[in-house]
Amino acid sequence: MVNMNNTFQELYNYALSINCEGVLNDKMSLHTSFRTGGPCGVRLSPATTEQIILIINKCKELNVPFVVLGNGTNVLVPDEGIEKAVIIIGDQMSKLELLEDNTVSFTAGVNLVSLCRFALEKELSGLEFAFGIPGTLGGAVYMNAGAYGGEMKDVLTEITHLTPDMRVETISAKDADLSYRHSVYKNNGCIILGGKLKLKPDTRENIKARMDDFLGRRKDKQPLEYPSAGSTFKRPEGYFAGALIEQCNLKGKAVGGAQVSEKHAGFVINKGGATSTDILKLIEFVSETVKNETGVTLEPEVIVLR
Ligand SMILES: Cc1cc2nc3c(=O)[nH]c(=O)nc-3n(C[C@H](O)[C@H](O)[C@H](O)COP(=O)(O)OP(=O)(O)OC[C@H]3O[C@@H](n4cnc5c(N)ncnc54)[C@H](O)[C@@H]3O)c2cc1C
Repeated sequence: MVNMNNTFQELYNYALSINCEGVLNDKMSLHTSFRTGGPCGVRLSPATTEQIILIINKCKELNVPFVVLGNGTNVLVPDEGIEKAVIIIGDQMSKLELLEDNTVSFTAGVNLVSLCRFALEKELSGLEFAFGIPGTLGGAVYMNAGAYGGEMKDVLTEITHLTPDMRVETISAKDADLSYRHSVYKNNGCIILGGKLKLKPDTRENIKARMDDFLGRRKDKQPLEYPSAGSTFKRPEGYFAGALIEQCNLKGKAVGGAQVSEKHAGFVINKGGATSTDILKLIEFVSETVKNETGVTLEPEVIVLR
């Protein structure tokens, strides 16, 4: 393998020269909700679209592979790390604005919880389902995040992205192929920069009651006290992943520090000291067992970075 240390150093120096924050060989366990994963070549956290464009251009010039992340709440990074630049669009790029006609514009780094609080304050409804999902809006668009009968598709009207040939483009959300945990972004290599959401007026009281209800249900049913990436598997058509896993007596099944949660079988958790290898082995074991015992294929929702 070519040693890319000097190249990552050059990219890092360049990022600093344009005032983009970053860390060489940053530990990905600090940037993923599983709290596992080895180092990346360099982690950069741009604050503006201009910085993103400059960084990507530099990656291309230096032949540095890169991956864009939000809050790292739906990804697993291998223990050996990833020889890539990890570009995090998060807190540094987090702006919300209320426009006319109950429309909210956002940048991709805004986290969903802040967005829900913003909507509550403006007495706008439609995002209550997202209260408690710990990702960014970039990640939520990419995944078409959803819960309790709602999904991003219901409220998104426009998405602004950077195309692989470096054009900033705004598309209608209708053209983003949003469906269950899927969007066009899974295949097109575009970087989500921001967008617009259309909400509906409602009273603060009603909105808050729904937010509290959904958050309460999460706290009751989900193992929020342990690191995880939320639901490990997608919902197979006609079934619930958690119910199938429970039916196969896998609740509590552990590999190293990774465990099928005893509170909710749909969650693989880091019970303490888990490695990404433990988590991956457990995910494979669960999928194989469920397939053998029920005939149903479980597809991971968690994205494994390579
Ligand atoms: C406790 C817990 C509960 C959860 N509950 C839910 C739930 O109820 N519903 C649900 O849908 N999910 C849930 N999740 C999963 C996760 O929070 C969502 O999938 C979320 O949308 C991911 O956002 P993120 O910013 O963390 O994305 P990341 O994990 O950082 O990235 C996910 C994918 O999106 C891509 N991506 C991220 N940002 C961009 C961008 N700006 N441009 C292009 N690509 C990008 C990444 O490359 C990666 O492939 C939960 C997770 C946890 C830990």
